[in-house]
Amino acid sequence: MATNLPVAVPSCRECGIQSVARCPSCRRALCLDHFPRDEHQPCAARLRDEAIRYSCYICGAASLPQQWSSTSFAHYIDPHTCAGCGRYICDEHHTRLRIEGVELAHDGLRSQRYHVTRRYCGICAPLRHVGGLRGAVFWLVGMCAAAVAGGLWYVEFLAR
Ligand SMILES: [Zn+2]
Ligand SMILES: [Zn+2]
Ligand SMILES: [Zn+2]
Ligand SMILES: [Zn+2]
Repeated sequence: MATNLPVAVPSCRECGIQSVARCPSCRRALCLDHFPRDEHQPCAARLRDEAIRYSCYICGAASLPQQWSSTSFAHYIDPHTCAGCGRYICDEHHTRLRIEGVELAHDGLRSQRYHVTRRYCGICAPLRHVGGLRGAVFWLVGMCAAAVAGGLWYVEFLAR
């Protein structure tokens, strides 16, 4: 019998009206007005309390993660972090590369479009194909390990 029931549309955690999106940070269902991070808890409190964290790692300019909705099915998310190293970077001077992508998500019977901004800092932009600074370090460590293993094998080979 339960299969005949319509799929319930989640309601906004702040005001109770029909939700339109989920916050990428806290995963709460929210309406258009409460989707921005400073409009709902716990994200608003986190923004305020950890304001010092949201600054460019190079120049210290405010780099707050932002999100807003243009319609009830299109939402914009800008984490303001470098997709390579995960550090916050400012828009004006230290975002070397910016890529806009669209992610589709299903929420009950509805599908939502999330426009996500990916940024890269000056160090990670040229390394983005190997996953930014973190990825490059990972590869470097892997290559060194392979070289050491290869060297050991060679030494053993000579010792035979
Ligand atoms: Zn609301
Ligand atoms: Zn949130
Ligand atoms: Zn900066
Ligand atoms: Zn980076």
